[in-house]
Amino acid sequence: MNIKNKCMNLEEINSKVMTADTQKGISPDDALAILKAGNQRFLEKKMIPRNLNGQVEATGGGQAPFAAVVGCIDSRVPAEMVFDQGIGDIFNARIAGNFVNNDILGSLEFACKVAGSKLILVLGHTSCGAVKGACDGVELGNLTGMLENLKPALDSVDESGDRSAANPGFVQKVADANVKLTCQAIQDGSSVLKEMVDNGEIKVVGGMYDVKSGKVTFF
Ligand SMILES: [Zn+2]
Repeated sequence: MNIKNKCMNLEEINSKVMTADTQKGISPDDALAILKAGNQRFLEKKMIPRNLNGQVEATGGGQAPFAAVVGCIDSRVPAEMVFDQGIGDIFNARIAGNFVNNDILGSLEFACKVAGSKLILVLGHTSCGAVKGACDGVELGNLTGMLENLKPALDSVDESGDRSAANPGFVQKVADANVKLTCQAIQDGSSVLKEMVDNGEIKVVGGMYDVKSGKVTFF
């Protein structure tokens, strides 16, 4: 099958409710191609018309999502919308600053090992408030401890100038580093997922969503 036919076939699959059978036929690379194509449709305003209420009915008995997205809680980055996906298509773990902890790793193990997803996408975004908060060392209630999770990304960025949220270039470097470190943390923190990666059963990839354009750049 040539690439164009394969992509059209994936779009055809993606226009319908995911079933265990269709999920089985999707490789990790296919899953990535589906998300890339979905974001392209979103950018071109050519979203697949979906009967979401019909999809509720069709998925009521079970789910077989092809991918899991670890994203920020930011209201501007709803994964289903920016990747033009329907109900039952993708898992979402959303937490301010899109990092992983044991609970999110457990959720991803469920998504991939138990529920059969083929791809984990760690999705950061531009102008991330959590990243800015970490840059500025914001202290507030439980937020203080939560922002500690972004410290490795903060420390990894070489910046001799302004290391505060007032420097957008620095903020973006930290956001990029955080996505890359989170991709690594998923494999370092979960032997279950690491084994699936090593066996080629899943892929872990990073992406950066631009809140101004709607475009996702994959790493
Ligand atoms: Zn954010």
